[in-house]
Amino acid sequence: MPALVRRNAVTVSVGGVRVGSSAPVVVQSMTNTDTADVESTVQQVAALARAGSELVRLTVNNDAAAKAVPYIRDGLAAKGWTTPLIGDFHYNGHQLLARYPDCAEALAKYRINPGNVSIGRKDDDNFRTMIEVAVEHQKPVRIGVNWGSLDQALLTKMMDENSRSARPLEARDVMLETMVRSALDNAEAAERYGLRRNQIVLSAKVSGVRDLIDVYTELARRTDHCLHLGLTEAGMGMKGIVTSTAGLAPLLLAGIGDTIRVSLTPTPGGDRSEEVRCGQQILQALGIRSFMPQVTSCPGCGRTTSTYFQMLAEQVQNYLVESMPEWKLQYPGVEEMKLAVMGCIVNGPGESKHANIGISLPGTFEEPKAPVYIDGKLALTLKGDHIVDEFKVLLDDYVKSHYG
Ligand code: SF4
Repeated sequence: MPALVRRNAVTVSVGGVRVGSSAPVVVQSMTNTDTADVESTVQQVAALARAGSELVRLTVNNDAAAKAVPYIRDGLAAKGWTTPLIGDFHYNGHQLLARYPDCAEALAKYRINPGNVSIGRKDDDNFRTMIEVAVEHQKPVRIGVNWGSLDQALLTKMMDENSRSARPLEARDVMLETMVRSALDNAEAAERYGLRRNQIVLSAKVSGVRDLIDVYTELARRTDHCLHLGLTEAGMGMKGIVTSTAGLAPLLLAGIGDTIRVSLTPTPGGDRSEEVRCGQQILQALGIRSFMPQVTSCPGCGRTTSTYFQMLAEQVQNYLVESMPEWKLQYPGVEEMKLAVMGCIVNGPGESKHANIGISLPGTFEEPKAPVYIDGKLALTLKGDHIVDEFKVLLDDYVKSHYG
């Protein structure tokens, strides 16, 4: 597979994590705890970091949240986590950053929404204040345009100009162009107020796949700024995962996007880290980065004798998720490992031979035994009631002997 060509010329350091240019595409996530609740937020950031989130954003929406930020950073450090924290500001970021310098210092990056930083003002003094704090503390910013909170004054101006044009564009196109203009104009202003180009990340988030592809393609065409990609609201479950993949994949394959977030709506009480694993899986499926050994499992069919095969595939997958936080520290390269869990003899042995370690369960009318292939060769045959546990032992042995 040819290497993907990355477009950006600018690299931004976010608390020591390199984003942009030749750096790997970074996976980030966002908490949904009350930031003022230090303990809960520390726990959730640690869980997201453990899942592999390389940057974590949290909302800083009031005085209590701003006061909590340094304690969150310290609480994480006490647990051994140094994951850079990004402060998400809306409406009052200029006040909070100026009022709480410890918060401004503890954060690794500030996200500014140009659509709501200066509501009701004719000047951009609030935006300027935030940039000046960033310059003082030498922090990068993300200028994060969002279609749900687009700068209404700019949108109205561009709609008016469009209506007077000899060849007016569709309203959708004017809206996307307004997003691009908002991002670029504010980036230019940020540089005027003292930020370096390599301290600026841009985003232009929408919730529709076609809109996302169009707006980022245009943004990438017009600037070499580092870009953060993501749908603003992907939705729940399968819809959220499919929509995010459909939106991000064409852009990432075109070399557009330096950091991503998958904005899944979690089920009540659900695992927030799902969005991290989804982002990683998108990058891994595209051959851009590897995070986790991949399990090839067949869909099963009328030849599959029972749900045992599905249970084995699920348990192997869960075992990998549980083991990876330790494995990735102890066994470098283990994320490239390939496994196969197959339902019968038709494709089982063939697919297993292409994997590092593969198992083919017996299908209907086949002998009740499961051949295991290691590095393409039939290594042994499992049978009986303990195939899952025995396969996990083989997996552990393989990891230790090949990546130790
Ligand atoms: S490998 Fe066997 S069980 Fe799995 S889908 Fe193919 S024929 Fe069906």
